Amino acid sequence: MLTTGPRGTKDILPDSSGHWQYVEKIIREVCHNFAYQEIRTPVFEHTELFLRGIGDTTDIVEKEMYTFTDRAKRSITLRPENTASAVRSYLENKLYSGPQPTKLFYIGPMFRYDRPQAGRYRQFHQFGIEAIGAEGPAIDAEVISLAVAFLNKLGLSDLKLLINSVGCPQCRPVYRAKLQEFFQDKRAHLCSDCQSRYDRNPMRILDCKNETCAKYSQGAPHMLDCLCEECGSHFAGLQELLTAAGISFVINPRLVRGLDYYTKTAFEIQYSPLGAQSAVCGGGRYDGLIAECGGQPTPGIGFAIGIERVLLALEKQALLPSINTAIDVFVAPLGTEARAVAFQLLTELRYAGIAADMDFMNRSLKAQMKYANKYPAKFVALIGEDELAAQKVMVKNMDTGSQELIARTALVPMILEEMEK
Ligand code: ATP
Ligand code: MG
Repeated sequence: MLTTGPRGTKDILPDSSGHWQYVEKIIREVCHNFAYQEIRTPVFEHTELFLRGIGDTTDIVEKEMYTFTDRAKRSITLRPENTASAVRSYLENKLYSGPQPTKLFYIGPMFRYDRPQAGRYRQFHQFGIEAIGAEGPAIDAEVISLAVAFLNKLGLSDLKLLINSVGCPQCRPVYRAKLQEFFQDKRAHLCSDCQSRYDRNPMRILDCKNETCAKYSQGAPHMLDCLCEECGSHFAGLQELLTAAGISFVINPRLVRGLDYYTKTAFEIQYSPLGAQSAVCGGGRYDGLIAECGGQPTPGIGFAIGIERVLLALEKQALLPSINTAIDVFVAPLGTEARAVAFQLLTELRYAGIAADMDFMNRSLKAQMKYANKYPAKFVALIGEDELAAQKVMVKNMDTGSQELIARTALVPMILEEMEK
């Protein structure tokens, strides 16, 4: 137990944290380009927020939440996603009183009691955005184009954008009734989850991964055929905008989110080489959510991208950059007396903004040179007996092999000058 982390968790070690930093850098660049600003909310919230904000007929709420009672007997849940928290924060901090829409992005850990496998963890990370306050299809197109821009900037191709409309509280009940009618005589053949979905949330039967359910849902009516005029023109508007922007998409009528506050646009981006975990991005409009959480009726749309899955995809395509551990100077003292001077020089270099390190293991000269090459270091500053006595330092350029004996006080200016070249 002491040397094994909980199931479904993973350490991000120095040999891959550079890849995370790279992905996060691209996220920040793209969000800046699209004028989205970062929000950081707590990793835990009142359980009630997720029951309301995600919906109690979803997999997340039914089986995946990390919920516990704190010392004051409050029910607390580790956030399984960030949209509900962002909406809570938007209302609590009155972000609606600023210029609209409110455009937010987040990066951080989420927690779900999922079955761990490649690309599926219990603590995982999402990058997501929320655009709150605008109702026309242009903001939907912007949200989708941000996701596409991010994945493209990483170099990922072979992506598939699926879109659908799930209607609104006006037109969805008609569809729901049609679906129930369609499944009525097939009900007994469905999995036990879908049998209860039939009453509570029949649209989710279309989304079931069980093969039998998939078979029985073939030929089911499509939401798109039931859209009201407003939802229909919103969906047509979105398609027009995506086409104009050169973003290719496929309409998938099976893409559903059956809750009342999910409205109109639903979308997903898949990267099929990831197999069963091919969904890298899921998003949609949630025009009923803000009112559900106690605010004024306010439209909103967002997406969430799984960072682990993006990293898996980048690895598969050999698109991960090499991690830079290079330093400018390695200070190499020889002998005990030289160490104090070496540490002094090391400190001066670092305080001057130069990346530097020294030997802390009493290595031999040969071993120190070998170690310096591992970073790699551009220069080695050697302090042996002679250099110590003469208050000098031998500077070796590791690229050219040339050496120069200089005054100790000249080391920092010399390296600064070299760095400018
Ligand atoms: P799935 O069908 O794969 O379980 P989901 O519908 O639960 O996905 P969303 O809630 O839409 O996923 O979350 C958005 C993204 O977060 C997913 O597309 C995926 O990339 C990522 N994600 C979701 N759950 C996990 C997990 N347990 N581990 C790693 N990434 C995850
Ligand atoms: Mg899931």
